Amino acid sequence: MSDTVLETLISKAFLSSPSMDVVFVWHGGEPLLAGIDFFRKIVTFQKKYQGQHRVFNSIQTNGLLINVTWCEFFKVNDFLVGVSLDGPERLNDEYRKRKDGFASFKTILKGIKLLTNYKVNFNTLTTVNKTNSHFPDKVFDALIDAGSTNIQFIPIVQPGMNQINHNLPAVNPKKNERTEQFLWAVDADAYGNFLIRIFNRWVHHYVGKLFVSNFESLLANYLGYISIICTESSRCGTGIVVECNGDVFSCDHYVIPVNKLGNILDYSFHDMVNSQEHQRFSNKKAEMLTGDCLSCEYLKLCFGGCPKDRFVSLNGSENLQNYLCLGLKRFYSYAIPYIRFMANELENHRSPANIMLAIKNGFITSKIDAYLT
Ligand code: SF4
Ligand code: SF4
Repeated sequence: MSDTVLETLISKAFLSSPSMDVVFVWHGGEPLLAGIDFFRKIVTFQKKYQGQHRVFNSIQTNGLLINVTWCEFFKVNDFLVGVSLDGPERLNDEYRKRKDGFASFKTILKGIKLLTNYKVNFNTLTTVNKTNSHFPDKVFDALIDAGSTNIQFIPIVQPGMNQINHNLPAVNPKKNERTEQFLWAVDADAYGNFLIRIFNRWVHHYVGKLFVSNFESLLANYLGYISIICTESSRCGTGIVVECNGDVFSCDHYVIPVNKLGNILDYSFHDMVNSQEHQRFSNKKAEMLTGDCLSCEYLKLCFGGCPKDRFVSLNGSENLQNYLCLGLKRFYSYAIPYIRFMANELENHRSPANIMLAIKNGFITSKIDAYLT
């Protein structure tokens, strides 16, 4: 990204923000490859243009390049660092190889240790894939052992970009042979089991101690708040993407010409976010729901899921269904009694962590085996 694009995007982010808080999320590829001088420039431009705004920076990294210099920079400039970690050594290294083909786990853990030593705020992002989805306890233990107290799980669903709702042709995986593309995708059933098992441990022992964004988001949705996760929100497009040449898109899963909103050198964020194109993109998530979703008791928690994951044909439905639906339904049916209790605690100005005592005292019970496949 040239200095001109970088400076323009930062100055325009402040100019267009209706909020005092402006959040920058630095993603790649691997953003640390841009080098620390690039990030020093970011901070310089932010200081130049922020005025009264508060600035929040986060960065998502595979963790391999983290060293003392980066840690000092992150600490001084208060960056939140997201590190990708898919579980213990064997499970993480199944897919996360370094460029030279070697395993990455030990290097990632070294990076996390450095972040911890330098007291840098970090969280972990764990993809749930074909392999690690069958070992939820091992994955959860590895994240706890690594010292992560902020955890997010992202299902790997892989027909990828061949999508429905955003001007791309649909592909129904049922009609296609299972190709290379599907080899690392999580099965819907396995995803349901994974969430249920980890939720079970969280709700018994870790509420208020470990922040699992999937579960916190579920609680927020149950209470009618706006989720921090776009996949669990009613509309798309809350995270605008700026590519290295300044082209702006509504979502990083749809960086394709037909969804380009403009270039930051030519337009303001305000104009692009309020454009018909972006509004159309944002609204389609709700407009393209299937009949099953519209009549689903979990609609206000799930919102039909991410449009990129909707590619399953249903009899008699023009719209396509979320590939993860069956797993999600089982997870919601297991989690809701606990979520209901926590929501009630919050509404009565008590701590949702009381759920753990309630379980211990037998006030709330649920037979997990009945929900697992
Ligand atoms: S398409 Fe998916 S990832 Fe993109 S904004 Fe919508 S819900 Fe979020
Ligand atoms: S659980 Fe399934 S049917 Fe219900 S809203 Fe989500 S995707 Fe739709």
